[in-house]
Amino acid sequence: MSLNEVYDNGNIFAKILRGEMPCVKVYEDEDILSFMDVFPQSRGHVLVIPKRPSCNLLDAAPQTLQKLIVKTQHISKAVSAALSPNGIVITQFNGAPAGQTVFHLHFHIIPRYEDMTMSQHASGRMADLQELQTLADQIKAAL
Ligand code: 5GP
Repeated sequence: MSLNEVYDNGNIFAKILRGEMPCVKVYEDEDILSFMDVFPQSRGHVLVIPKRPSCNLLDAAPQTLQKLIVKTQHISKAVSAALSPNGIVITQFNGAPAGQTVFHLHFHIIPRYEDMTMSQHASGRMADLQELQTLADQIKAAL
């Protein structure tokens, strides 16, 4: 997958957007969907995606990016209020060599806690879904 690849409607986030795959939802409006990362790097790892398809940040429309970053800030504040992390890492990868594994634009919101190490990106350990739902409910309550 190169940076200039054509968007593939079969990617996992496209399936989540079409309701073909489940997700633990945190937030949704007409432009944005946010849900818990099912292989979290830390407690409360949230993803924020635009509904409008683009592979990455480079092929996204400026209006899409505006809405995405504003909503990423909004949800990050809710994560902070709900989970009281000591810091928050916000990441975004463009292209497989950069670490991107799902080719639909997204931001990661990864809370950091002083007493917990962060798992590696795409380390593949699936979270307990009930635990993710509890975290999502806490974050939603702080939105
Ligand atoms: P990327 O590597 O593209 O920056 O991030 C993709 C993210 O999507 C990874 O953090 C990975 O854990 C997450 N992910 C992959 N498949 C699924 C899935 O089916 N559901 C959810 N909620 N997250 C997923």
